[in-house]
Amino acid sequence: MAANKEKAVRKDQAGAKDVVRVTFLGGLGEIGRNCMAIEQDGRIIVIDAGLMFPEPMMYGIDLILPDFRWLIDRRDRVDAIVLTHGHEDHTGALRYLVKDVNVPIYGSSLAIGFARHRLTEARVARDLDFIEVADGERRRIGPFDVEFIPVTHSVPSAHALAIHSRVGVIVHSGDFKLDPTPIDGRRTDLSRLSALGDEGVALLLADSTNAEEPGFTGSERAVGGALRRVFLERPERRMVVACFASHIHRVQQIIDVALEQGRRIALMGRSMEANVKLARKLDLLHVDAADFIDVETISRYQPGEVCVICTGSQGEPLAALSKLSRGDAKFMRVGADDTVVLSSHPIPGNEWSVGRVIDDLHRAGTEVVHSEHEPVHASGHARQGELRTYHQLLKPRAFIPIHGEYRHMVHHVALAASMGLDQRRILLCEDGDQVEVTPAGIRRSGQVPAGFHYIDGSAGDLDERPLEERRMLAEFGVLLISAGVDARRHVLSQPVRVTARGWFDGESDRDLIAAVTNEVNDALQDAVREGRYDESSLNKVVQRAAGRLLGQKFRRQPVLLPAVIVLE
Ligand SMILES: [Zn+2]
Ligand SMILES: [Zn+2]
Repeated sequence: MAANKEKAVRKDQAGAKDVVRVTFLGGLGEIGRNCMAIEQDGRIIVIDAGLMFPEPMMYGIDLILPDFRWLIDRRDRVDAIVLTHGHEDHTGALRYLVKDVNVPIYGSSLAIGFARHRLTEARVARDLDFIEVADGERRRIGPFDVEFIPVTHSVPSAHALAIHSRVGVIVHSGDFKLDPTPIDGRRTDLSRLSALGDEGVALLLADSTNAEEPGFTGSERAVGGALRRVFLERPERRMVVACFASHIHRVQQIIDVALEQGRRIALMGRSMEANVKLARKLDLLHVDAADFIDVETISRYQPGEVCVICTGSQGEPLAALSKLSRGDAKFMRVGADDTVVLSSHPIPGNEWSVGRVIDDLHRAGTEVVHSEHEPVHASGHARQGELRTYHQLLKPRAFIPIHGEYRHMVHHVALAASMGLDQRRILLCEDGDQVEVTPAGIRRSGQVPAGFHYIDGSAGDLDERPLEERRMLAEFGVLLISAGVDARRHVLSQPVRVTARGWFDGESDRDLIAAVTNEVNDALQDAVREGRYDESSLNKVVQRAAGRLLGQKFRRQPVLLPAVIVLE
């Protein structure tokens, strides 16, 4: 009897407490600003805090962050931030988050090294507690035991996380591919993942970036072979290779190929120099100091004697490659003796900027080799074949796709279902969704604000409104409409004047401005006749009259700046 009673009490406690809540703050529905919170007994750990780069239509926007308000409101309950790896879409928003949520930051030595460097640059690193973890390590973090499982990706030392909770193991895949021949020999730990699968995985959260792509992502090692061939065919030319500065294994392969040919290495771009320095210090990049030359001395060498490794493979306007393409780089000019290799693939949204850089390089007479000519790039994300293997090993009881545009996640859902997982155990979530994990399964439990948080480098934080205004300014221009009203004589003392910016000088726009002038003049005359003399209501009269005419008759919505002055 006593035993039964005890069991009932235990069950009741368990019933109340056997819940883990997952809150998605970013990365579900976009590539970027990855961030989620996992919560048990009221304690929270944050996984990743990434940024996203803006689309061309987001005028003046430099960065997009997750909306951290939900986390900031609960800052007393947050125990830690855990980084899966060192990419910006997972770490780039840290410098904004740690201002309000100052908790220990866990990650591999490289992820911590990258993050610490960025936070130091932003002058927010001083009081922060960085905790480096080793491959396979299992740590008590907040209410959870968190295990760091090695995975292969386009940055070294990436991890999947096995979060041991009261409702079972939650596996967060991190960004990964299953590269059987990685440069550093550090493979995705399939045997550990498979052991977790045998023990039972309550929930799998997995990278969806390449879920639309059939087959398998090529090994990073194959890129080395392609680079070697491109170099061998051009012994007399100066080779300039652009890639992500965090892609240490790519940098290693470029260096190895260049050194085989007796070339010296010059680095261009601040982040390339900083990351190479850090990776050498951590023994993740192997090259002698004597193999480097200063880019300032590059003109002393024959083209065939050097290889430049630079940033800017995404066409970023301020990065080294863009400067080279425009002839703006300090110590070097590219021309007919150079071959530029883009060892990268444009991230969606960057195609246009990359195209412009390639055009400018051609204009300078430079040869350009990119991934559509030669296989000089491999993705860091698993394709369908690898994802199937992953699901098969982990045999999760429930699944939620993460890290992808909406269509990628839809394809990942279909893939999970094709592996035999019951549709009711798969949730397609988006930013802001909350999910509860219990021993019985998963269910949606709520929603939190998770819109885009825009950062304009010169203006600071922005919400959607000024951005909408910038879009309208860009699309329709602006009309300044001024007039003067004499309150004593009940007349317009200054005629209505319309000044346009972003409008054409041509006839149609001139006619339109004349029509606006007439319409506003009539509306103001009527208002004055009715005895209305306060500036704000007269400004509204102007706004309404011009807005109606332009919108209804001409389908235009310029930003309207009414400026009526009343003389008393
Ligand atoms: Zn990544
Ligand atoms: Zn990522």
